Amino acid sequence: MAQYRNTRNAIRRRKKRRRKMIAVTVLVSLLVVAVAAGGVTLGVKLLNQGEALPVQGNTSSEEADETTSFSAPSTSTVKVDESIDWPEMSEVTEESVFPDQVFDVPVYTSLIPEGKKGRPGKQRKIMYIVIHETDNQDVGADAANHANFLNNVSEDYTSWHYTVDDHEIYHHVPDNEVAWHAGDQQTLPGGNMNGIGVELCVNPGNDFEKTFQNAAKLTAYLIDAYDLTIDAVKQHGDFMWKNCPATIRDTNRTQEFKDTVAKYLAQLQ
Ligand SMILES: [Zn+2]
Repeated sequence: MAQYRNTRNAIRRRKKRRRKMIAVTVLVSLLVVAVAAGGVTLGVKLLNQGEALPVQGNTSSEEADETTSFSAPSTSTVKVDESIDWPEMSEVTEESVFPDQVFDVPVYTSLIPEGKKGRPGKQRKIMYIVIHETDNQDVGADAANHANFLNNVSEDYTSWHYTVDDHEIYHHVPDNEVAWHAGDQQTLPGGNMNGIGVELCVNPGNDFEKTFQNAAKLTAYLIDAYDLTIDAVKQHGDFMWKNCPATIRDTNRTQEFKDTVAKYLAQLQ
């Protein structure tokens, strides 16, 4: 009888240990999923190939408090990456706007730190607004996470000026500085040298129609701010062979995007 009880107790102890192990495994799995969902593994598949001005505008958002920390520079000295063979630029746009809202959409300024490859600090003339889509289908790959990616993860010549999602916009590089998004190197005039790169988010759960409208609002605002015309609206695919912005192109909405920009522009002028 004692023998039997001991065996039963041993079985009970083993079952208890196994339940404990299962609980730990489940916890660890949940943690891994949570970390992945948080966009820690965020990979931006974009693009190839951005100092500093006093910053106005919002610098934080509830959803991205950890991703937006940067110290606003106190001077306007431009540090140019000397390793790049810059073409002679006869004319530059002297100042960048730093909006904190376009129409009803909040804009957060979260500039790529000076000295990173994505922020060469080269001033140029603004001629185009270059529309892109991130092609990033990762969960949580919204505007705030792309700001985090550019500021804290990327070590490449990859950058753009704004990321737009269905509820907010992040501003990564002053508009009058070069960023690396159009794949046309130092061509003058060109997408990198003269374009403001605008990325539309396509992550799961993000409302693409709202993103489309928000990007059109930002584009109208920028056209108005820099005295451009509707013809300044370009796509990444206009500067190199690339199907970007893919959703807009694949659904034949290029003209619709321009018309939407024109509608918002009329409200500003
Ligand atoms: Zn693109």
